[in-house]
Amino acid sequence: MSTPEPEADRAYFPHAGLRQSAEYMTAMNFVGGKWVDSRADDFHPVLNPSEGRQIARTPLSRAQDVADAVRAAERSFPGWAAITIKERAQVFFRYRGLLEKNLANLAALVQEENGKTRNEAAAEVEKAIEVTEFACSLPQLAAGEVLEVSPGVECRLDRRPVGVVASVAPFNFPIMVPHWTIPNALVLGNTMVFKPSQFVPLSALRIAELLKDAGLPDGVFNLVHGGQEVVEAVCEHPGIQALTFVGSTRVARAVYARAAASLKRALCLGGAKNHLIVLPDAHVEMAATNIAASFTGCAGQRCMAASVLIAVADVEAVIARLCEEAAKVIPGKNLGAIISRESKERIKEFITEAARSGADVLLDGRGARVEGKENGFYVGPTILDRVHPGMRIARDEVFGPVLSVIRVGSFEDAIAIENRNPYGNAAAVFTQSGAVARSFTERANAGMVGVNIGLPVPREPFSFGGWNHSRYGAGDITGKSSIEFFTRAKKTTTKWNPDARRDWMS
Ligand code: NAD
Repeated sequence: MSTPEPEADRAYFPHAGLRQSAEYMTAMNFVGGKWVDSRADDFHPVLNPSEGRQIARTPLSRAQDVADAVRAAERSFPGWAAITIKERAQVFFRYRGLLEKNLANLAALVQEENGKTRNEAAAEVEKAIEVTEFACSLPQLAAGEVLEVSPGVECRLDRRPVGVVASVAPFNFPIMVPHWTIPNALVLGNTMVFKPSQFVPLSALRIAELLKDAGLPDGVFNLVHGGQEVVEAVCEHPGIQALTFVGSTRVARAVYARAAASLKRALCLGGAKNHLIVLPDAHVEMAATNIAASFTGCAGQRCMAASVLIAVADVEAVIARLCEEAAKVIPGKNLGAIISRESKERIKEFITEAARSGADVLLDGRGARVEGKENGFYVGPTILDRVHPGMRIARDEVFGPVLSVIRVGSFEDAIAIENRNPYGNAAAVFTQSGAVARSFTERANAGMVGVNIGLPVPREPFSFGGWNHSRYGAGDITGKSSIEFFTRAKKTTTKWNPDARRDWMS
């Protein structure tokens, strides 16, 4: 690893929340509106994945750091919950403006610590802006209900915040995924402890900075860096009422069980293995370009990425065109880096093992090399044909730019394979037949399904969330579904008329 560059070369770096330590800058926690040092004695390196060099370090905070953050969030809760939702939304109108004003430097920062391309980074900031706009509309959507249920007797339902909530995020969308929860949870009156991935702490520092600039009161949003110890402390802290988690299925499952055991409301989104079915009548150009973009975008490190293409009968034209399209995706140009050296090696092992087990390698990204960035963690687009459903590459999440093609004879065989996979984030079909498309959308075993679209992401106001082992807990994480998760319904029954006496209640 080379020596770090001088700070001045990185104008888009956070202006606050970094302490210059012995060799690398150390990210700080943000508690009660102040930057504080973590109690960590262990650190995780923050790398620039495109160049394979260290740029900062993340403190692996301790349970006591979580306790401090919860205390700050508890202290600020009564005041924040007491103001009207319209006033809370005003902070996020201002925050939305700041995100837009800072779009370019936020994108540069995401690219630096995550390794995705600048365009992909800008797109995730735009998505964060869209979610923030939704949060600004919550005063309209979260209004209560009222009905006269008996003569002179009124029932009224109000949405009250849950209290202190926690949000834990993965590495792959350092700006977008935190925004799945922060704006909605806070506009609805909760206060928060947020833990970003230890791989991408810098974007989280900027989020804290911009929230403060927007006028968010101290203690409403708190940031604690770290890994497993922080997440376990969050699950067990009695002051936290609800927890959202986004990450791999293995961890999502453990976190859900731990949070539920300490009687918390929990929603934990996990990994994915998204299947795309291609029929012989598919529009060749539309299918090929959509599927290529889906499996290579963000270097395949998206929970919505295409992973398995189920080719029904003769779809040679689509596969040939898909190979041409994917070959235009060039590492270091329009293909970003993998998050770490370990992940890069893991992805290459998946490919090598599949090839050894009999898959045909139509496009091989194992030798990817970017001139001038020889230490970067790159894997080029890879297409494997004649993959068997029993192979590890057909079953497990690869999280890299790799597409496995499974050949089947009929649509029924294709649906059976899609239905058997234990995940259930996304699935899509490529066909010109309305009847087949309808049959697919009804029978696909996934929470987000698409027709002739490689990345069927529901956008606001529709909520985001998979099924099966891609999500533990009830409801989705964004959109209208977030109102249920981040509030409690209070039902108030009122009688003022002593003369009504028309039924048992009045
Ligand atoms: P990860 O599970 O390794 O980490 C996610 C978070 O959990 C991080 O903040 C990490 O610090 C923490 N963590 C890691 N190990 C832990 C442990 N043993 N106990 C407690 N906490 C722990 O996931 P990742 O590698 O950061 O992200 C990639 C994964 O996230 C992929 O599986 C991807 O499919 C998934 N993902 C899912 C969605 C979705 O909406 N379903 C969205 C984005 C990413």
